[in-house]
Amino acid sequence: MALDKELVMKALRTVQEPELMKDIVTLNIVKDVRIEGDQVQLTLELTNANGPIKEKIKADALRALGDAGAQQAQIVFANTSGHSSKPHAKPVGKILPQVKNVIAVGAGKGGVGKSTVAVNLAIGLARTGLQVGLMDGDIYGPSMPTMLGIRGRVPAVQGSKIIPFNVHGIHAITIGALVEQDKPLIWRGPMAHGAFKQLFSDNTQWPELDYLIVDLPPGTGDVPLTLCQLLPLTGAVVVATPQQVALDDAIRAVRMFQQLGTEVLGLVENMSYLVGPNGEAIDIFGRGGAERAAQELGLAYLGALPMFPELRVNSDAGTPLANYEGDTKLKSSLEALVQTLIGQINLRNLRPPTPVLTIS
Ligand code: ADP
Repeated sequence: MALDKELVMKALRTVQEPELMKDIVTLNIVKDVRIEGDQVQLTLELTNANGPIKEKIKADALRALGDAGAQQAQIVFANTSGHSSKPHAKPVGKILPQVKNVIAVGAGKGGVGKSTVAVNLAIGLARTGLQVGLMDGDIYGPSMPTMLGIRGRVPAVQGSKIIPFNVHGIHAITIGALVEQDKPLIWRGPMAHGAFKQLFSDNTQWPELDYLIVDLPPGTGDVPLTLCQLLPLTGAVVVATPQQVALDDAIRAVRMFQQLGTEVLGLVENMSYLVGPNGEAIDIFGRGGAERAAQELGLAYLGALPMFPELRVNSDAGTPLANYEGDTKLKSSLEALVQTLIGQINLRNLRPPTPVLTIS
């Protein structure tokens, strides 16, 4: 059989990055694939940090390519360095010098589980021993007061600054804590910009953070633009459900971030399938759609989060740490997402920071 890119990528999908326990295609570290007849050349965007791991991946990749029919294969490593669960040490910018990485979580449309993913990623990152902040930037429909169990609580103030709530191992702030409960929030463009900026940076006393996760409003409105103008983001995570109509919107969200010069760290497929009473997978929305979309867009696929009734229950009850209790599929799905995201952040931080967007 003649070799083509599809066959090569299929073969490389069998090769695992042993630290991250994901295949190297999903991790988006296979670059510059060139195929001529039965000869293959490619680059692996891996680190210099851990020689044995690099050599193992290379050996596994050569074997997989050989099994796929390559007579000759050349694998080079991109000249990068440093890869660990420790985040990049450079501050993201003057505006929040105490924050090392700002990561936006966006979605093409509402209701796909963007806030759920943002909360659980923040908590999962904090569980690895890192300092994590979470900002509910979904100023039109803040759901964090409920999801974090802080409805009705008023944040402490020091001088003219609000102190984020210290809950579930993270530092969190939400506009929902500053406005009357159950009143609709109606912002025109410039007001949305102002409210977001004030809460994000001007009026909040963030502590030293390794990661600040920002839950954006769905769609492609003013708030992502404001965020990208304020400071260089490490990158964005886009959450999608797998059905085509949802993916079309997610792809628009990806394009928006790229247009704003912000790297997309990867796609998450939420509500990938339903976990039935006996642990069986019930495919509702067409599992795998986000992974295919990620592949087509040349993005990393961060993983799938199935529909778990207990995830919804814990969100409504404001007890997100319960998602990480016990030996459950929910816990392992979340931890896998967190690990893949850390890998992508570290890879991203090997490249130069995002320039801050200026709009004239
Ligand atoms: P968005 O932020 O995209 O509007 P939310 O995160 O608020 O969406 O989620 C919408 C609803 O779906 C919430 O009730 C949430 O608990 C539930 N939900 C989200 N993801 C899942 C999932 N994987 N399994 C079960 N329920 C989920």
